[in-house]
Formats: sequence, C-alpha cells, structure tokens
Amino acid sequence: MVDKGSLFERAKVLFLTYAGPLGLEQKYPGQALTTRLTTPDKSIKYRISLGRDDGSVQVFPAYRVQFNDDLGPYKGGLRFHPQVTLDEVTALAFWMYLKTAVVNLPFGGAKGGIAVDYQSLSMPEKERLTKKFALMLTNDIGADTDIPAPDVNTGAREMGWMLHAWRMSSGHYDRGMITGKPVDMGGSLGRAEATGRGVVIVLLEAARDLGLAPEEATAAVQGFGNVGRHAALELGRQGTKVVAVSDVSGGVMNEAGLDLEALSAHVARTGLVQGFPGGRSVGHLDVLTAKCDFLIPAALEDAITAAVSRDIQARIICEGANGPTTQEAAEILNRRGVQVVPDVLANAGGVTVSYFEWVQNRQEFYWPIGKVLDRLSTKMVDAYRQIAERAKEARCSLRQSAYEIAIERIVQITMERGVH
Ligand code: NAD
Repeated sequence: MVDKGSLFERAKVLFLTYAGPLGLEQKYPGQALTTRLTTPDKSIKYRISLGRDDGSVQVFPAYRVQFNDDLGPYKGGLRFHPQVTLDEVTALAFWMYLKTAVVNLPFGGAKGGIAVDYQSLSMPEKERLTKKFALMLTNDIGADTDIPAPDVNTGAREMGWMLHAWRMSSGHYDRGMITGKPVDMGGSLGRAEATGRGVVIVLLEAARDLGLAPEEATAAVQGFGNVGRHAALELGRQGTKVVAVSDVSGGVMNEAGLDLEALSAHVARTGLVQGFPGGRSVGHLDVLTAKCDFLIPAALEDAITAAVSRDIQARIICEGANGPTTQEAAEILNRRGVQVVPDVLANAGGVTVSYFEWVQNRQEFYWPIGKVLDRLSTKMVDAYRQIAERAKEARCSLRQSAYEIAIERIVQITMERGVH
C-alpha cells in the first residue's frame, strides 16, 4: 500500500479493507452500502475575510464536513492549522463517524477547520477570526444538528468565543451547541484532559494484556498540546517514566525521566518544549524511535511512516492523534509484533467527555469530576475489552477489530432507518 496521496482516499481504502471480509454487498445486495458508508452527507466550504490589526484584509478558506448523522447529531472538532484542506477535514470527519460508533455514542461524525497559521495572529485577530467562523456556521451547527469541539490549535477559549458569537447570531442560549467550553460557560469538568486520560486508560489495558506494569515502563510522547501533555502527565501519575517528548520545535530527552510538571511550566512560559533545562535537546525522529515501552503519537497525521516504523523500539503504540500511523507502517509494525492501539479507540476519550458535557448541558445539571472520570474509565475500558477480545478470537489487529465493531453498528442503523 502506498503512503501518499489523498488522506481521505487512503482512509477509504483502509475502511474497505476491513469492511471486505464482512461481505456487506453480498449480505445486503443492491443497497449501495459501501458507497453510502463512505460518502459524506455534506461538505461545506466557507471564505472568511479577516480584518487584520494593521488594517489589511486577509482571506482564509474554511470547511465543515458533516459525514453521517444516522447515529445521532454530527459531532467533531475544529482545527485551525495552515495544512487544513477539504481532503484532510473529510478524512477526519470519516474517522469521527467510526469513532463514535466504536465507543457507542449517540453521535454521527463531522469535522471542520480553517486553513490559517493561527499562532501568528494577534489575540484580537484570533478572537475575530473564530467568532466570524461561528457566525458563518450559524445555520449549519446546533445542539440537535452538529456539535463542534476542540482540535489542533483550538481549546476552551475558542469554544467559549464560538458559543458567545453563535448565541448572538442564532438568538438561542443553547450551551449544548458546542463542547470543550470553559467550565463556567457550561463546559464539563475533566473535558480538557479527557483525550489524554483516555489514551492512557486504554494504553494501560493493552500493557496489562502484555504483562507490562505501568510503574516499570517507560514512554515517549510526540506532541505536547492538549492530548500529548495530558497523556504524559497521566502516565507520570501512573508511575511510568516519560523519557522523551517533542512538539513542533523538536524534542527533549532524559533517560532518568522528565519532570513533567516542570516541562509543562516551561512550555506555558516559552510556548515550546525546546530549551527545557531538565533534558537534552534531540530531533523529532529521536523521540519516535526512543528506547521505551510505550509510544504516544499525539501531533498530526502520518507521523509514523514505513521508514520510521522500522526503527521504533516501543512495544505498544497508542494513537493519541488521528491517523498518525500510515497503513504501510501499521503493516510493518504488525509483522514486528508492535501492538498498535488504533486512534478510533485510543483518542475517543475526548468525544466521550464531550458527550457527557452535552448531556449535562441538556439537563443543566452538572457532575462532579469523580463521576466524569469514573464514567470515562468505564466507557474506555469496556470498548477496549470488547475490541481486544474480538481481536484475540479472530487473531487480527486491534484496528481491524475496532473497525469491524464500528461497521457492524453503523450498518445495523443504516438498515433500520431505511433508505427514504
Ligand atoms: P494541540 O494543538 O493542542 O497540540 C498539538 C501538538 O503537536 C503541539 O504540541 C504541537 O507543537 C505538536 N506538533 C505539531 N507538529 C508536530 C511535529 N511535526 N512533531 C512533533 N510535534 C508536533 O492539538 P491536540 O488537540 O492535542 O491534537 C493533537 C492530535 O490529537 C490531533 O491529531 C487531533 O486531531 C487529535 N485529537 C484531539 C482531541 C482533543 O480533544 N483535542 C481529541 C481526539 C483527537
């Protein structure tokens, strides 16, 4: 399999590889099932004009892809990054569709984003751009239709801005129209750290199956943003030594274990991992191929290519990011006996607590942190166990097992709802 070209086309090929053995076309002849399952419902393109602080105007393309809402309202994050394209957003929306089915949440799949170098904007420009996107999305999103959330370069601040702009434009104060908000605006306790915690919950289940105890293990984490930082901190709390971490600026390594609180404080102060005095500077590749038991890629797609996969020393890769391992790399890792916990399960903690947030917003009744974390843990462990048992019985990868479970759920609803 070739590791280049359209991300969505590659995502589709992977889906068809796993759907093939289920014999959908033979089981439901004439239903065009594979086409219906792999074609987005709606792909919306926006043009956002931003008035810059210096008086000039800059235009940015933006997108929202609503992949499928048979399982419930569309759900998926918003990414602000220069590499955002319609193709990437479509692939990410497709994966959200599968992910909500993997963890059995009452949501469909969507994703959105703006192709912008967001970090280069001033704070007032960031606020204007984000609120303008919310205004343009007014008729396309809502608590019963399509619910955005954070993704790369967006967080509670952006979700709060969007809620405010959307309520002004729609005339409704419906907090459930967006998740990942600041807690005092109706966000859920535990949402900010949910994806990283969820990654560690399933990683430690997979480690237990291989007879690896967290307090005897070491780990490397690529990406030190929302997902990577919280995953690293949680690993630290579980007694795992995190020996290498990277972000866009490069990596930092310390075989004795990085002081993660000090690293977080350094990143909060400087914005970057590089220059952290508690470890030595290393390259991006050194972190991915570091000597360790667990590797968490938590940055962007296609980080682990075939070439990288041959040098990986970790025993378990737990995909915090969406699509970080190319299919060719996944096949090599499988042959090498490296366990890969797939993204559609591994990073589903974020959408799970987003679901809890949406439920709390609908009831306007808010849960204590202990309840959120208990329910997150139950959901992630149940999903992992179901996937792992099926993989063991069928002697297949966790990814194949997860896809089969998602596809079976999706197909059942697709058939139950009828065609018209
Ligand atoms: P973020 O913007 O908070 O952090 C991204 C991190 O990746 C930053 O530290 C950045 O410096 C780093 N990075 C970027 N390019 C890199 C490179 N080439 N090498 C190393 N590091 C690099 O984003 P996030 O929300 O943490 O999302 C990360 C991944 O997790 C994405 O794939 C996203 O789709 C996925 N994800 C996020 C959530 C969520 O709740 N935020 C949920 C599910 C999945």
